[in-house]
Amino acid sequence: MKQLGTESNPLRVAIIGAGPAGFYAAERLFKEKNLVVEIDMFDRLPTPFGLVRAGVAPDHQKIKSVTKIFDRVASTPGFRFFGNVEIGKDLSIADLEDHYHQIVYSTGAQTDRHLNIPGIDLHGSHAATTFVAWYNGHPDYRDLEFDLSTESAAVIGIGNVAIDVARILCQAPEELAKTDIADYALEALQASNVKDVYILGRRGPAQGKFTTPELKELGELSQTDFIVLPEEAELDELSEATLANADRGTLRQVELIKEFAHREHEDKPRRLHLRFLVSPTELIGDGNGNVKAMRLVRNELYSTSAGTLRPRSTGEEEVIDVGLVFRAVGYRGVPLPNVPFNDDWGVILNVKGRVVDSETHEPKVGHYTAGWIKRGPSGVIGTNKPDAKETVELMISDVANDLTLRPPHPGSDEAEEMIRQKQPDYFSYADWKHLDQLEIERGQAAGRPRLKFTRVEDMLAAKAA
Ligand code: NAP
Repeated sequence: MKQLGTESNPLRVAIIGAGPAGFYAAERLFKEKNLVVEIDMFDRLPTPFGLVRAGVAPDHQKIKSVTKIFDRVASTPGFRFFGNVEIGKDLSIADLEDHYHQIVYSTGAQTDRHLNIPGIDLHGSHAATTFVAWYNGHPDYRDLEFDLSTESAAVIGIGNVAIDVARILCQAPEELAKTDIADYALEALQASNVKDVYILGRRGPAQGKFTTPELKELGELSQTDFIVLPEEAELDELSEATLANADRGTLRQVELIKEFAHREHEDKPRRLHLRFLVSPTELIGDGNGNVKAMRLVRNELYSTSAGTLRPRSTGEEEVIDVGLVFRAVGYRGVPLPNVPFNDDWGVILNVKGRVVDSETHEPKVGHYTAGWIKRGPSGVIGTNKPDAKETVELMISDVANDLTLRPPHPGSDEAEEMIRQKQPDYFSYADWKHLDQLEIERGQAAGRPRLKFTRVEDMLAAKAA
């Protein structure tokens, strides 16, 4: 048999999911010397880039410039994009096994972690992930409705998603109008009546999951006073003791929070309250199925036997009036049909990126994973680069050891033909670049970086035009 990974017998890889992890995996594969690789990257949306397009906040445009790296990867000979192709619906894993030597799952974390408290399903209580996808113009979420006629909103959790959601709710309309936020979301937020936003941390200032620039930004909003209660900015003894071994980021955050707590407020039209050591215990309804308030309990921290500081209730309660609630307690991965999954963790069962069988825990030859669906929803975009590298190095070593799938139809034309038959409306990278150009042109007319297409039908119509 001809050696795999050569001009005459290239290694053919399918990457499922065109977000950062998928692109970093492709980049690392193409960098491997003496290995000829062909990559077909699939995404269920016609547009690539995953959370860079549908997750990163619209007022963080600079972060999105990472797509230039992905564009470069996509222009490498041997790379093809098949957007609007859903694995599990349009193509099966068996179809992929028939055409590729290796398959990489980099589908991210497409849903949210649950929060089980009474009233959580009341109208007006939403997963923050759905709000993020909505304001970013994700086709699956664009028709959701968020009632912004209420005066107060709460965001549960103190990670960067909570911070993003709170900041977007408080951002000045003219600032939002300079971004690529979805047009309907811009309109809704411009008309928003929300004046008070509470971000609720169940632990203290030394246990924030946010990063320092994101925290700082909350104090720089032109239309919003940022409020931290002085008594909540002070650390308890256990947290104080952890500072001796804390990283620079945590030390800076603790210091910043104290500064914010002692800042004069300017009577701006909106107020953003960052609260610590409180847990929601109940959402209270108005009798018609809508949220009208939230019951909170004050927490204290205790140390587990492993030395982690966890919250526990002191029994002291408080009720805040809120008509809108966002749960930003973490994303969660969704299983793919016939791919082993760890339901407790919401990740594909794997060891360092090699997918393993649910029963035997032996590697499933030819199947790999990278990114959030491999390790869980943690880290920033760049974290996916070393993560993908770890996976790809195993893939390369498995090729050297002849541990790959043996597809009966390994030709690239055969794969394209199969895809065309199963999903004739697929988007190539050239189709995406055309759409990208149209979005940028539409945006220019409005003084914005781009005006997104938010319906798949409109994307298909633009492709056909
Ligand atoms: P995250 O960083 O894991 O934060 C989740 C937050 O929810 C934590 O504060 C956590 O508190 C809290 N939480 C969990 N369960 C809770 C409960 N039952 N009750 C109350 N609070 C609860 O998750 P994320 O904010 O979804 O972010 C996901 C990843 O994306 C992170 O790595 C984040 O940095 C990244 N991201 C980055 C950016 C950026 O770079 N600008 C923007 C968005 C997202 P505990 O700590 O007590 O568990």
